[in-house]
Amino acid sequence: MSCYNYETLEEHVGHDVQCVRYGEDNVTVECHTCHVVIVTHERFPEEEVEPRSRKGIGSGECGTHGEYFLDAHDSPCPSCEDER
Ligand SMILES: [Zn+2]
Ligand SMILES: [Zn+2]
Repeated sequence: MSCYNYETLEEHVGHDVQCVRYGEDNVTVECHTCHVVIVTHERFPEEEVEPRSRKGIGSGECGTHGEYFLDAHDSPCPSCEDER
């Protein structure tokens, strides 16, 4: 059971509410007075968030291949690199 609206959360006002970590990827807010979980959240594996970070620090423009993502400020176009 978790709290999903005003009424279910208000029940725990003044209770012994604590935020607890379970393992590497789970954090739970629980009420130790009622022994119920109020909110629980899991962290998703890094593989799933990687595509966003793969975009690098910015984007560059190649006359042949168009826009590409930069790993460093002076990164060459990766497609041009492949053709060497
Ligand atoms: Zn409570
Ligand atoms: Zn290129």
